[in-house]
Amino acid sequence: MINKLIVIGIDGMDFDLVKKYEDKLPTLSKMLKENNYPRLRSVFPADTTPAWSTIYTGVDPTVHGIINFVNVKDRDNSYKPFEFDDSAFKGKTFWDKLNEMGFSTTVLLPMNIKQGWGINGTMITRPYKGEMHVFPKSKESLYNPKISILGTEAKFTSEAKLDFLKKDFFAKSDEEFRLTKLAIENENCDFLFSYFSTTDGLCHDFWRHCDENHPEYPGENEHKNAIRDLYIKMDNHLAEIISMCPDTPLLVLSDHGHGARPVYIARVNEMLHRFGYLEPKTGASGSKKKKKSLKGFIKKFALNFVARFGLPKWAVKIARKVPVWKGIFASGNDFDWDKTVAYLSDLSALKNYSYGGIRVIADDDKKDALCDEIIEKLKTVMIDENTPAFTWIKRTNTHYHGEYLNRYPEIIFQLDEMYGADWNLGEELFEKKGFMHRLSPGAHRYETAVIASKGIILDKPQYEMTDVRDIILSVFK
Ligand SMILES: [Zn+2]
Repeated sequence: MINKLIVIGIDGMDFDLVKKYEDKLPTLSKMLKENNYPRLRSVFPADTTPAWSTIYTGVDPTVHGIINFVNVKDRDNSYKPFEFDDSAFKGKTFWDKLNEMGFSTTVLLPMNIKQGWGINGTMITRPYKGEMHVFPKSKESLYNPKISILGTEAKFTSEAKLDFLKKDFFAKSDEEFRLTKLAIENENCDFLFSYFSTTDGLCHDFWRHCDENHPEYPGENEHKNAIRDLYIKMDNHLAEIISMCPDTPLLVLSDHGHGARPVYIARVNEMLHRFGYLEPKTGASGSKKKKKSLKGFIKKFALNFVARFGLPKWAVKIARKVPVWKGIFASGNDFDWDKTVAYLSDLSALKNYSYGGIRVIADDDKKDALCDEIIEKLKTVMIDENTPAFTWIKRTNTHYHGEYLNRYPEIIFQLDEMYGADWNLGEELFEKKGFMHRLSPGAHRYETAVIASKGIILDKPQYEMTDVRDIILSVFK
């Protein structure tokens, strides 16, 4: 029995999708409706790791620092994945705080936590380096978490294998729920947090097949309800949790929304070039041309290879750890750095996301003014008569203020969601030429995370990720 509060985290669940399937999701819909459909905004950028870090700690990424951008201008063009261990979280999470206040907690499969640590209550960690940990160890036989199910690297490999992939995702969700149910039946504690992972991964891989408005929707297909069916499964899980603990307040939340990865590109560096802030390298045009066509060849080859054979397992693994595409799509050698003061940050260039950042080079005392000048110019760029390219664009230091602000590019922006930022220069500012959507058709969204509750009043129309921790703790005050 969980006495005071249950929090269910659902990775990548999207507000607009919940609305779309509303009549098939009675439990979640009711929890949203009773609170007048509150909105929850993710962190910027809307990535899983910084978002859950913010949910746990209540502070934004420039304060907790679990964030990393690659600077394409770096001479050695080296990519170092951002490393952190449990010390980044131990003692700082909402469950630690609850323990400190004297409440017992059960924490299941928390994102971002690796080895885990003993708490007042029970913790089961996610698979990490082939192991899962149960604290206290004496409860291992009760839960017996199945690493063979939870530890599979379900990831898009080829269209032919989508069916297996779908089964993997659904099996994972079942195992996550089995553990959650066991905890509700066996623990006698004040608080339960359980994290469900699969909505995010399934959307990344199946978006194109499920979205009839997608430019590359394949038409009627056997996977067209995959996302809807997983949402229904999550709704059933919630209904069952409520029936087991009818009097315990329940909070449901996601870390970001999910939508289509843009198929169209917006050439942000080209915009900066036209406004005079960025200069391509001149001279040695012969060898440059050669290099460029080689780039084009590799890109084309990679695309055809992926479409025909899928992405081999080793490539999937490398692509996750090292952006192998980086050398192909974004190179620091493209521009004349003596004459360039602003350029697209890697963040969006690699992923073709519709949100991203711009790095600005200037002396500290002139930087803000230059940023503002660039922002005003970019605001005038239109996709067509009525549609500005940027839905918003601002100086990062007007948005976040923490000590790790210098990890961010100086300007951050949200493009029209149909368009992903692209590194390369070209004659057209906007074009149907995205690439990453072929590998991963779904992409995270910033404005459309989910927050819903039963037995807790959510009276604000708009919440930020930094509010979640306080909402949880307020139940215990
Ligand atoms: Zn996520």
